[in-house]
This record gives sequence, C-alpha cells and structure tokens, in this order.
Amino acid sequence: MQLSRRSLFKLSGAAALTAPMIMTRAAQAEVPMAMTMPAAFKRFSLGDFEVTVLSDGHRNVPDPRKIFGTNVSKDEVEALLTENYLPVDQMQFTFAPTLINTGNELILFDTGNGEGGREGGVGQTLANLQASGYMPDQVTHVVITHMHPDHIGGLMEGDAPAYPNAAYVAGRTEYDFWSSDDRMGTPAERGHAMVEAKVVPLAEKMTFIGDGDSVASGITGMAAFGHTPGHMVFTVESGGKTAMITADTANHFVLSLQRPDWEVLFDTDKAAAAASRRRVFDMIATDRLAFIGYHMPFPAVGFVEAMGEGYRFIPETYQLDL
Ligand SMILES: [Zn+2]
Repeated sequence: MQLSRRSLFKLSGAAALTAPMIMTRAAQAEVPMAMTMPAAFKRFSLGDFEVTVLSDGHRNVPDPRKIFGTNVSKDEVEALLTENYLPVDQMQFTFAPTLINTGNELILFDTGNGEGGREGGVGQTLANLQASGYMPDQVTHVVITHMHPDHIGGLMEGDAPAYPNAAYVAGRTEYDFWSSDDRMGTPAERGHAMVEAKVVPLAEKMTFIGDGDSVASGITGMAAFGHTPGHMVFTVESGGKTAMITADTANHFVLSLQRPDWEVLFDTDKAAAAASRRRVFDMIATDRLAFIGYHMPFPAVGFVEAMGEGYRFIPETYQLDL
C-alpha cells in the first residue's frame, strides 16, 4: 500500500481522534519522562558582532541566606526573597559563558563547570556551543574573567584543552593570586589546586591583562576586584552599540542587585566586591547599557535601573533582537 505524506497525516490524525481513552492511560503509565532539556543559547547582534550566550546548565542550592546577606538578619533576607516571589529555602544558580564572533575572532568568555560537573547536570557549555552552530576548534580565544571553578572548569577535557586552537586571556592579578604556592594551607588552597590542574598547563598560551587592556578591537577589560582578587569585567563595543560582560560582579538578580552592599559568602574581599558592584552597575544604569551577567537568570542578558538602595534587574526580552 502506498500512502502519500498527506494521507498518512490524515490517517494518524483520525486514529488519534478515535483512540479509546483507556488505551491512552495505559500507555502513559509506561512512558518514562524524557528529562532532556532543549539546547540552550541566546543569540543577538551587537553592531557588527554576533553574541551567543551559552547555558552551562543550572544547580539548585539550599539556604540562600547562608550565601547572600551574611551581614544582615535571616528575616531581612527572607523578606526580600518573598517580596520578589522567590522561595526562601532554596535557590537556583545558572551559568552563562558568552561567545562573541567579531568577524575575525571567535572569543569565548569563561568555560562553565566542565566535565567535573556533568553528572550534576552542569558542564553543558561545549554541547550548547556546538548546538549553536560552532565547533570547539573554531574558538580563537578563551577569556577567563576570574578563576573560580564554575568559570575555569571547562578549560580542559580530560588531559587535553577543550578548545584546541585557542589562545587564552586572563587577568594578571588573578592568575598570580591563584597560581601562587602561598595559597597552600589557606582557604584558597582548593582553588589553587584547581588552577594548577586547569589553568597552569595553558599558561604558555596565555596573555595576561590589566585594567584598560584590550582583548580584541572593541573589547576592553576593566578591573572589578573584590569577588576574587583579580576579577575582571569587559566592555564590548561595535558599530556604536555597547554591552558589558559583568561576570560575577553580581551573583543574584535580586539579592546582589537590590542589595549591593549585602555581603556574599563567595566574595573574597566583601567591601571591595560591594564597591565594584556599585561602580559597574551605576555605569550600566546611567548609560542604559545591556549587560550579560554570568549568574543572572538564563539567558543572562538584561538592564538595570537605580532603585532604592540598589538596582532593579530588567530581563532583556526583544530589545536586542530588533
Ligand atoms: Zn561564578
């Protein structure tokens, strides 16, 4: 029997309509949930640049108040969460490396959690980079904003570089801090070990930068120290458009932005981190810039306006697609 696509469609439609309800129920009980998630990336143009924000996945974490607002009362943290329709007993972290095609370079900012996080559902950057239409060997530069595990974890796959043709860019202050043996026997010892494993093997292909140094034409690093000793943010300018890559200047879209002075467990120097938060987000609010924040709700792109003692996060919807 020969059936055209059209008549097949009609047939299956008719069969679905007449299928008895009892069969539908029996079948459903034996169908496992797929659990897989769609490829996750967001792409937009910025002048002549193409920007692709990649999801590395997400991780749920208990007790937000043990991380954010460690210098204020539990009640204050819980009140702010509740006011923003967020649960008080757990939270979700997302991770968003960003890929910029300048036309001449393909630059990846941070690498996600890498293979070590994959069983826990993160470490999806490589897969999403490929889903977005690129191959790892096309990446010409990997820029590291700072050397926490969720940013450097994806530099290596096994014993080999995950982006085999890439040169690397990192902050001089950041590299010197984490790679130093002086970290042995301090709270930074585990971070030091991770940098030894993931970053030091690539150091000979690395360019070290400081405040005001350029990564490529239109892309400039800026010191925003505090979260880590050498944490950097980046200004991206093309064709009269500007956006910022703020990395971990703010780690939560409500708790860090609405209360920039609240202390955060992950910030190495709490006061310097708060000062950097204010300086960077004052500039973003004043100039009405778009920004990509590594831990903002995926796709991690938005704006801020000054509000109360901090800022209100405004997620990007279609502003950058037009
Ligand atoms: Zn981070």
